[in-house]
Amino acid sequence: MRHLHLRALPALLAAALLVATGCGQPSPAPTPPPAPAIDGEALMTVVRMLAAPEMEGRGAGTPGGLRARAFVLERLQATGLEPVGDGFQLPFQFPARADGAITDGVNLAARCAGTAPEAPVIVVSAHYDHLGVRDGEVYHGADDNASGVAVLLALAAACREAPFHHTVIFVAFDAEEHGLRGARAFVESPPVPRERIALNVNLDMVSRGDTGELYAAGTHHTPALRAPLEAVAARAPVALRFGHDRPEDGSNDWTMQSDHGPFHEAGLPFIYFGVEDHPDYHRPTDTVDRIDVAFFTAAATTILDALRALDTALAGR
Ligand SMILES: [Zn+2]
Repeated sequence: MRHLHLRALPALLAAALLVATGCGQPSPAPTPPPAPAIDGEALMTVVRMLAAPEMEGRGAGTPGGLRARAFVLERLQATGLEPVGDGFQLPFQFPARADGAITDGVNLAARCAGTAPEAPVIVVSAHYDHLGVRDGEVYHGADDNASGVAVLLALAAACREAPFHHTVIFVAFDAEEHGLRGARAFVESPPVPRERIALNVNLDMVSRGDTGELYAAGTHHTPALRAPLEAVAARAPVALRFGHDRPEDGSNDWTMQSDHGPFHEAGLPFIYFGVEDHPDYHRPTDTVDRIDVAFFTAAATTILDALRALDTALAGR
């Protein structure tokens, strides 16, 4: 899930947002250090696996959902990162949306130790479940949210290669499509004390290049994060936009529309990366072939740059 309803931004509001947010101050950002390249084919390999027919749309608690869980667990462990607490799996229970039956969910988490052990923790998240099978049709969920999981795994690998200042917990959430259940369970009972969480960076639908734009939502709630992201936007290979985070945006306010919502409700800052709704959103046609690989790779590159910029900004450097 991300948006509850498919609605386009009215043109006037879009124009106003562009004026307000798209043409920010010229950034005096220094040239960033060369970031490790994002491998677009590796991203697509993950998406092809998660959106394959045998995953049956990854409905939480379904056989396809369990297969997706096993795949993400194996890939997360393969990064070489440490488990969080007792293991990589953080189980919880949730009422299924269809009949309210109590169902087992499992979040998958790994820890990338920071270079400053006293610093608080950044939680990077992406949900791995999707809508499953409905009326005999598989909802593949390539963009929503196999794409976010692929980027999360790439970020985890990059962190393993070159750790951040902050410790980063990478978590693939379950049961987002049932009402952000995995994220709610994580925030209710986090593997580190909640006051140690400095920021949630959530990824949900990051591969569709229909508009060439990637949004970073959340700076309305935490304005201090805007400047480092403006610097990223100035050098980004995609059009990085701000917005979709104000109450007056109505249904276009994405603040509670994905797994960053429970973090926000708990008073924790978030940045959410995602694209606008597209015609295949929450339809069986959200398939791998409709992903724009060049945009997807550029979006992942931008998100990695942003994560490093946020890490630096939060460290006060
Ligand atoms: Zn989603």
